[in-house]
Amino acid sequence: MRSLNALPVHELNQLLQNGECSSVDIVSDVISAIERVDDRIGAYLDYDGEHALKEARASDERRSNGCQLPLLGIPVGLKDVLNVRGMACGCASRILEGYTSPYDAYVVTRLREAGAVILGRLNMDEFAMGSTNENSAYKPTRNPWNQDYVPGGSSGGSAAAVSACEAVAALGSDTGGSIRQPASFCGCVGLKPTYGRVSRRGLTAFASSLDQVGPVVRDVRDAALLLEVIAGHDRFDSTSLNIPLSSYRDTLTGDISGMKLGIPKEYFIDGMDPDVKKTVQDAIDKCAELGAELVDVELPHTEYAVAVYYIIATAEASANLARFDGVRYGARVDGRDPLDMYGKTRAGYLGDEVKRRIILGTYVLSSGYYDEYYIRAQKARTLIRNDFENAFGTCDALIAPVTPTTSFRFGEKGDDPLQMYLGDIFTVPVNLAGICGISVPCGMSGSGLPIGLQIIGPAFKEERILRAAHAYEQATDWHNQKPEIARTAGMS
Ligand code: GLN
Repeated sequence: MRSLNALPVHELNQLLQNGECSSVDIVSDVISAIERVDDRIGAYLDYDGEHALKEARASDERRSNGCQLPLLGIPVGLKDVLNVRGMACGCASRILEGYTSPYDAYVVTRLREAGAVILGRLNMDEFAMGSTNENSAYKPTRNPWNQDYVPGGSSGGSAAAVSACEAVAALGSDTGGSIRQPASFCGCVGLKPTYGRVSRRGLTAFASSLDQVGPVVRDVRDAALLLEVIAGHDRFDSTSLNIPLSSYRDTLTGDISGMKLGIPKEYFIDGMDPDVKKTVQDAIDKCAELGAELVDVELPHTEYAVAVYYIIATAEASANLARFDGVRYGARVDGRDPLDMYGKTRAGYLGDEVKRRIILGTYVLSSGYYDEYYIRAQKARTLIRNDFENAFGTCDALIAPVTPTTSFRFGEKGDDPLQMYLGDIFTVPVNLAGICGISVPCGMSGSGLPIGLQIIGPAFKEERILRAAHAYEQATDWHNQKPEIARTAGMS
């Protein structure tokens, strides 16, 4: 038997139900994996093994009393952007040093109700701004497949932990690709739900019109399971919609015959990594073999997506991050007067990328530039959304790459924000349109780095992309590949 820390949650559930392992066994395996490899990976900012074991014991006790819950006794890691009562929530930023959360995020409440054991806080780019985890104020997280390479971001800790078998499941957040991109760089499955599908309460806001919480997991069945747990209406988040939920796992029939998959030609561009292009093309062919019908579609406004995203996201961030001023949360540098104190605190405790974005966002909202940048970006956002609507008139879902390249080396793009931003081209349109997307492993590059396939669906049609992704996954073996370091983590 493989070590428990290397198994997907649905298989662990089976073992637990059959009495073949306990939650204490699972949590112990995960903790020992963290102890063995996390000094090399850096996925966790913090974890409390003792507390997790205590919760695991309580879960085993509940199970022996007949309790059945979808995640009973399953340890889950959380990106450091989610509030957990009594725990730090730092967004990998120094400005939140010393902050302890007084409440549980909605998704954390749902996890607890489902019986999950909260394991620890996973590293990320500061305030979820970035694509590599190089912007964490604390440490870089390394790609389990090759530690000279970035894990992606901003949910890099979540993806690296799952990939290195230091977690069996994790939650991340996706504002412009932060779940799908690291999942693809690390060989995991990552799902960004439709805007409004999952409550944002207790998710530290980066860009409120784009942010969504979602799972980073081993396979599509786990993505469906986690989504069932965290999705739903929350009356304390006015943007969470009251739309009936599907039983996502029930829709994983493995059958996609007759499903119309659209191939957006704008997502196959010059300058793309040839390995990515070829691998994604092969995955598309595989779907056709499985009976899907392929149709060519156009998303003509894709070329504006990165610019539009970096105007809207920074504008919203500049407003959202105004609350970190030294008064209410975390760190403070004293000053002559309040203004001096705000300035010194923010200058001293926010990282460069966060400052860059606050400045950019403040600029595009300032009088004189507001119409020229912000309003124009909002209009272009509508065009991008309309592109998808038109495309979904002729197909059920879209199939495309997640990123134009595989993971890259630390420092490779660090000095050039624009180059970094351009890597978001295939993920940000999904957030701008408020629809859903999933990344599923579909191959390896010549240099041994994972490649992801993106399947994009209309709003609130998660069951459709899950079904397509699952059918593809079941017909291939990419999701079972593990990096070498997973062996050190205890995988046998
Ligand atoms: N890489 C994108 C950015 O830097 C996406 C981040 C995210 O989704 N949180 O903004």
